[in-house]
Amino acid sequence: MAESSIIEWTDATWNPWRGCDRVSPGCAHCYMFRDQRRYGKDPSVVVRASDATFYAPVRSARWQEPRKVFTCSWSDWFHEDADEWRDDAWDVIRQTPQHTYQVLTKRPERMLDHLPADWGDGYPNVWLGVTIENRRFVGRADVLRAVPAAVRFISAEPLLGPLVYDDGWFDEGGVETRRWADDYAGPELDLRQIDWLIVGGESGPRHRPIDPEWARDLLTHVECVSNDRTAGRTAFLFKQWGGPRPTSGGRLLDGRTWDEMPATGVSA
Ligand code: SF4
Repeated sequence: MAESSIIEWTDATWNPWRGCDRVSPGCAHCYMFRDQRRYGKDPSVVVRASDATFYAPVRSARWQEPRKVFTCSWSDWFHEDADEWRDDAWDVIRQTPQHTYQVLTKRPERMLDHLPADWGDGYPNVWLGVTIENRRFVGRADVLRAVPAAVRFISAEPLLGPLVYDDGWFDEGGVETRRWADDYAGPELDLRQIDWLIVGGESGPRHRPIDPEWARDLLTHVECVSNDRTAGRTAFLFKQWGGPRPTSGGRLLDGRTWDEMPATGVSA
């Protein structure tokens, strides 16, 4: 467990297990592989953390104050190799209601079947999120929408392509409709019942460039789409443009910093 995190949208990280394997293009340059190798670990093997780390939120005196805790920054909360440990981890979350756990996954198809028995409408201290890096994966938002959760969020980072229609209206048999300008036939990102959208470019030596229009279009989309769950719009956080280092391109989007957090009473 890291005492603090440099990630803009959280306060600390908690890794009850570590290790993973790649599932989609956003994983290509995953920092976990580099970090684990640096520590002499095999990043492709999912291993349970020591009890000191696993139970730190419950046992550590340093973890009494409320924090936003990003879970599994070195793995995926819903990784199949962690199935036997996840109930223990849900227990830790249940016992520490002062913390807000941000559970982000690229395996949303496993969420519904791997929630705790007393999940109900969602633990109040768990935010459930999915990563969506390009338009091929906008369906992850639909999977997330079907799962009860106190807060649902999307991390569009690293953003590798447009997620919303890049063009205007098309006439289809007399019906005006919107769609992609190229041959791609998939849907655009649907933000209904999504409380929070994080957008960011990739950082690191092999970062893939972000087109500023992809980020601007998402902000416009957020401002246009009514959110039928909270009667407010989806909160928007622009994390970074990316580049060789996380700070290379700064965080300004059209002259301002976007640091919104979902409306839950949790301070930013
Ligand atoms: S799911 Fe997350 S931790 Fe696993 S390889 Fe992909 S980016 Fe890395």
